[in-house]
Amino acid sequence: MDLHDLHDLRAWLPGALEVAERWGGRFGPYESHGAHRAGPEAFTEAFERFAKRMDDNYPFFHPRYAGQMVKPPHPAAVTGYLTAMLFNPNNHAAEGGPATTEMEREAVASLAEMFGLAASHVGHLTTSGTMANLEALYVARELHPGRGIAYSSECHYTHERMCHVLGMAGHRVPVDVRGRIDLDALEGVLRGGRIGTVVVTTGTTGLGAVDPVHEVLALARRYGARVHVDAAYGGFYAILGRAGTGGVHAEPWRAIADCDSVVVDPHKQGLQPYGCGAVLFPDPRAGRHFAHDSPYTYFTDSDLHLGEISLECSRAGAAAAALWLTLQLLPLTVAGFGQILAANRRAALNWAQLIDGSGELELYQRPDLDIVTYFPAVAGGRLSAIDGASGRLLRDGMTAQDDPVFLSVLRADADAFQRRHPRVVRDAETARIIRSVLIKPEHEHYLPVLHGRVSELAARARSTPATATP
Ligand SMILES: *Cc1c(COP(=O)(O)O)cnc(C)c1O
Repeated sequence: MDLHDLHDLRAWLPGALEVAERWGGRFGPYESHGAHRAGPEAFTEAFERFAKRMDDNYPFFHPRYAGQMVKPPHPAAVTGYLTAMLFNPNNHAAEGGPATTEMEREAVASLAEMFGLAASHVGHLTTSGTMANLEALYVARELHPGRGIAYSSECHYTHERMCHVLGMAGHRVPVDVRGRIDLDALEGVLRGGRIGTVVVTTGTTGLGAVDPVHEVLALARRYGARVHVDAAYGGFYAILGRAGTGGVHAEPWRAIADCDSVVVDPHKQGLQPYGCGAVLFPDPRAGRHFAHDSPYTYFTDSDLHLGEISLECSRAGAAAAALWLTLQLLPLTVAGFGQILAANRRAALNWAQLIDGSGELELYQRPDLDIVTYFPAVAGGRLSAIDGASGRLLRDGMTAQDDPVFLSVLRADADAFQRRHPRVVRDAETARIIRSVLIKPEHEHYLPVLHGRVSELAARARSTPATATP
């Protein structure tokens, strides 16, 4: 975690214990049982071994980590999570944790507002984007039984898996030269009349490409199909997109409010610890597909319980507390959370520009959001050589003792590669390229250092013969 964040945590964490102590004191004395108590030496010894194991990790907090879509949570999220965890509320039903259930409703309402949904929406947090998408596809099946799902070949792989789980037919639609769902191909699939719901992705996991939601929506409606938006990774960009600022194309983001469901992962861009996804339905009638009658839960009443509109049962109330507390400090506005996204976006655009002017690296495609994809510029442009150089760049960066960088690779197929770079020589079916998710605002100022180091590594990687063994 960032040093400033750790400093804040040191100041804030005792507050968690105070809250639990003050509250616990209200219920009167009783004799505590020793069965689970550990002696201080036993703990110290176990914790030392534990701490040593934690060295085996990647520095997600540091801007020299520019790989996958991961960063540590906000210190307020940690404080909120830990405080609530001391109570251990379960948000499957209000009596599992009335306070965190309220927080979940409020946090979900903020997410809904971020997408421009009306106050009448239904939605809730989930443990992940996968679970959130599963619920959206489940509702899709209930509303259009017998009809299938169309998704692009760049969508998250779990859509295909979830279609399988739900016993629905999944239809893979090709993408255009920017990695966005191809509208002509989609229309071809829709024309067959077998599609109930189209999945669009605003920020694909690989390239960060934003599907043209507005155009897909118009097309889907013409064929009587619903539209589900998978914004698991990119969703928070709705803040900039809907405001038409920060170099983010507005139309796809503004169209989300008119779609049928949307998923966002606060545990990706939203500074939350893992275990926090969300699914939202503009039409509250979606909730009726989860109706069930359990004999042992839901003994209190008010509105629909969160457990009554969800597939999962137990869920950490602490996850809702963490998100709620974070949103008190960083509201989902251009001036709040938007500042983080704007910095990420500037970093991505600036890096794309640096790569354009570089002799060592080539841009794979222009970033729509904050994922930058590129590869070492190898002489001759053979795909096999690009693949080898990308692999070496990744490995050399990660294993450098003194000045490491942490990147990730993406496998591009030869067709997709050649459409973007017609001059490459197709001597392989696929080639690895480098993918950097600039998910932290710290990347903006660190960029010259990062670019310099990656260029240096690329120069070395492309001059090493592919057959060389490390
Ligand atoms: C990450 C991601 C998912 C899956 O979410 P998990 O929280 O990892 O289960 C789904 N769709 C997209 C676009 C994603 O980026």
